[in-house]
Amino acid sequence: MERPVRRTRLVNASDFELASGPVESRLVTGLTKLGIALKHGERRTAVARGLSATQAQILVALSRRDGARCTPSELADELGVGAPTVSEALRPLFERGLIRRTAAADGRVRILRLTPNGRREAERVAGWPDFLLHALDALDAGEREALLRSVVKMIAALQQQGRIPVARMCPTCRYFRPNVHDDPERPHHCAFVDAPFGDRAIRLDCADHEPAA
Ligand code: SF4
Repeated sequence: MERPVRRTRLVNASDFELASGPVESRLVTGLTKLGIALKHGERRTAVARGLSATQAQILVALSRRDGARCTPSELADELGVGAPTVSEALRPLFERGLIRRTAAADGRVRILRLTPNGRREAERVAGWPDFLLHALDALDAGEREALLRSVVKMIAALQQQGRIPVARMCPTCRYFRPNVHDDPERPHHCAFVDAPFGDRAIRLDCADHEPAA
């Protein structure tokens, strides 16, 4: 983490740069501030809807799956929490009629699905990061693309270190074919939909994602 810069009189520009500390520490400080803003926003919205932060995350995670199969243990993996935390958070959601459980075809696992009420509630709580969307207005299109590339790289690095759950994003997908086209605007290919695409279309939470070997 960045250390606070002392208020000393500086002699010249290079002294100033030295006193500012390494770029990496300032980036970590900036990312930490964004993380705190996100946590506060998430908690505020969840509390306003009578939910815990985990319950709000469960509703949003299920709505992103768009009806695709999801078991309690897959949910725990996706949210990076333990199975007991998920099962405790699920109980009030069943009671409020926001989620229902059905048996999988083989009868061995339970599949979680949003009810129509749950889907509406998920839409309400999913809107909370809108303030970040407004903050992104401060960046031009090129800066947004560069930021997206950097965020994807950082998530991939954290996944490889086992520090965060695997996100359903293109670089970790078995259908992703990076840099296979000559077109600099669309160098990658998605073998699932059989279409070329560029960095600006890289997905971070794709319902069709299947983990690469
Ligand atoms: S299936 Fe989804 S995650 Fe996989 S490469 Fe295609 S768009 Fe990306």
